[in-house]
Amino acid sequence: MTAAPTAATRTVALLGSPISHSLSPAFQNAAFAAAGVDGVYVALRCDAGDLPGLLRGIAHAGGAGNVTVPHKEVAAQVVDRVTPAVQRTGACNTFWLEDGAVWGDNTDVAGFAAAARTLLGGEPRGARVLLVGAGGAARAVLCALDDAGVGSVTVVNRTPTRAAKLAAGFQGGRMALALAASPGGVAGERFDLVVNATSLGLGAGDPFPLPLDGSVGIGAALDLVYSPAETAWVRGLRAVGIPAVDGLEMLVRQGAAAFERWWGIPAPMEAMRAALPRRAGAG
Ligand code: NAP
Repeated sequence: MTAAPTAATRTVALLGSPISHSLSPAFQNAAFAAAGVDGVYVALRCDAGDLPGLLRGIAHAGGAGNVTVPHKEVAAQVVDRVTPAVQRTGACNTFWLEDGAVWGDNTDVAGFAAAARTLLGGEPRGARVLLVGAGGAARAVLCALDDAGVGSVTVVNRTPTRAAKLAAGFQGGRMALALAASPGGVAGERFDLVVNATSLGLGAGDPFPLPLDGSVGIGAALDLVYSPAETAWVRGLRAVGIPAVDGLEMLVRQGAAAFERWWGIPAPMEAMRAALPRRAGAG
């Protein structure tokens, strides 16, 4: 939005808890201004009980929005219509009104796919992938990897039963799935792509999701975690010559996919990237 809000301005809201740390208001408002759309993006902290009313009310009032932790699964139940990404992940992070119905999408799937393409310089078709983590984000990653036609995915997680449950949901797809009880279980193997979908790296002093001792061959790595500075794991990977990116690119790409759902026009990617704190020189 370029001018002050008017009665015609569309409200786009991020619903979650906590949300005060979110970068979405900064890059979405920059995108609205660059694209010249009449909208304002705000963050609303809300509890689970308030989510259904807020989400549906905002959509029916002409608005739209995003949903973040811990409400993505509840949101998937609250919308009227869902995209295949929501069907397959059971999570919704984007909503809008279309033909009188409240729609939900999970743009983390498209966001991861786009970030992986950028990192690898193309589709990871046939690739051997190691996925560390088995939570909600890992589910979106598995969906995107299946769509991209990777050859195989090995899942490793602190709680192995959760990894087994995640993998079971994707049996019967095109990719081969395997489980490893710990990173030690894949020692001696080589992967074209390693993905960190745990929250390791958010805390200073966290151990690496996968050690950088050379025991596992890594072609490239995508860390979903992002923080004011690049994660120590990404820095460590780069230091030994392995192409690696943190979660900021995926964050912007999922935001771009959401923008396109709300406005029906291509997202101004460069304006969004330029609004990230690190790009603006703060990180
Ligand atoms: P989640 O559902 O809570 O899952 C958390 C995952 O991290 C689980 O696999 C969990 O293992 C693992 N984990 C947590 N603490 C651990 C520890 N101390 N040691 C080993 N593993 C640990 O969270 P999520 O929604 O999947 O999000 C995961 C991360 O991805 C978060 O950092 C989030 O910010 C990031 N993310 C980024 C984007 C983006 O756009 N860049 C999008 C979505 C998520 P257990 O199963 O054993 O608990």
